[in-house]
Amino acid sequence: KADLERNDPDVFRAIGQELGRQRDQIELIASENIVSPAVLAAQGSVLTNKYAEGYPGRRYYGGCEYVDIVEELAISRAKELFGCGFANVQPNSGSQANQGAFMALIKPGDTILGLSLAAGGHLTHGAAPNQSGKWFNAVHYGVDKETHQIDFDEVRALAKEHQPKLIVAGGSAYPRHIDFATFRQIADEVGAYLMVDMAHFAGLVAAGVHPSPFPHAHIATTTTHKTLRGPRGGMILTNDAAIAKKVNSAIFPGMQGGPLMHVIAGKAVAFGEALTPAFKTYAAQVVENAKVLAATLVGHGFDIVSGGTDTHLMLVDLRPKKLTGDIAERALENANITCNKNGIPFDPEKPMVTSGVRLGTPAATTRGFGTEEFTKVGDLIAEVLDGLAANPEDNGAVEEKVSAEVKKLCDAFPLYQDM
Ligand code: PLP
Repeated sequence: KADLERNDPDVFRAIGQELGRQRDQIELIASENIVSPAVLAAQGSVLTNKYAEGYPGRRYYGGCEYVDIVEELAISRAKELFGCGFANVQPNSGSQANQGAFMALIKPGDTILGLSLAAGGHLTHGAAPNQSGKWFNAVHYGVDKETHQIDFDEVRALAKEHQPKLIVAGGSAYPRHIDFATFRQIADEVGAYLMVDMAHFAGLVAAGVHPSPFPHAHIATTTTHKTLRGPRGGMILTNDAAIAKKVNSAIFPGMQGGPLMHVIAGKAVAFGEALTPAFKTYAAQVVENAKVLAATLVGHGFDIVSGGTDTHLMLVDLRPKKLTGDIAERALENANITCNKNGIPFDPEKPMVTSGVRLGTPAATTRGFGTEEFTKVGDLIAEVLDGLAANPEDNGAVEEKVSAEVKKLCDAFPLYQDM
């Protein structure tokens, strides 16, 4: 730390400012979390110096005996967490995990079927500007107009019509449990692979508070930094030995060179943490907090897409308040509550405006917030947004008042105290 301050005061200062921001804001971005000091230590370790192309015991570089220990630990802990037979912990991100899964199983020009971006899917599930949308013939299912839940009649009809080689289940803004068994049934009917992208809810699966993609999925991908509370990165899992072999070849040498061994060390530590009873308690609290936050907002007159949540996230429909996502996000940030604007299903607004915000409970739950605090958070969100709706030109006084309340909440649950 002292070295960084001396050698690069500009970067040192910005890191300090970011630490201050994380300490003083209530983080409700559903894809974010707060890693432990142990994960930070592993990620900031000398393992960043090591080239280790290949896999444990089969490297293209010497001196890999210790990084092998770390990668083996990450792999065995991942397999135990998700009850599966194979894990590749090398993908540098969730996007690269998805690219790796595609490279392992399908070819450019093949058809894939995934949840549309507009209904809560992810860019890497075949969105037009993404490589997945450019290299594959991407077809999308949406959600039902009334229930905002996946309409399996539509999924089945699209699968029959387009004969995809691979079907993707999972998304970035889908708040409900996904019926993996029905997805697998449809995949089998058309001879497609079923890939579950559990990036968002992997931590909940690991803790046993969310249905598992296995045994239904042929392959599952995830990020490691969302509900799973590890370093930024990705991972691919399967129970199928033939698929496992293809995945390893796809990640290296197919897509990546030297794996980020310091990040893999962070993954190993986070997976170890996720195997503890404390993590199960944490994940159950994440889900309970999300239900309480959604109910509190409904009590204040907001709509929640699909009527609620089964997971760590919810989409708030702001139309009852005649607000849009962009201005709501800004007003909440002024009050030190961080979230992101998000399209809602069948959104009449443009993607840079949107009719909704996405809220998630993983980060603030890590801080120690329980249902009492999340009820308060819901009240504070409503205070800011009701103020904004009443007085769109001048909500400053309300935002200032709420930010003082936010500061009190944050100070009661301090972050990274030894830094
Ligand atoms: N898949 C899903 C469902 C996601 O939500 C995300 C990230 O938001 C990703 C993949 C991509 O992860 P990354 O940002 O690490 O590339």
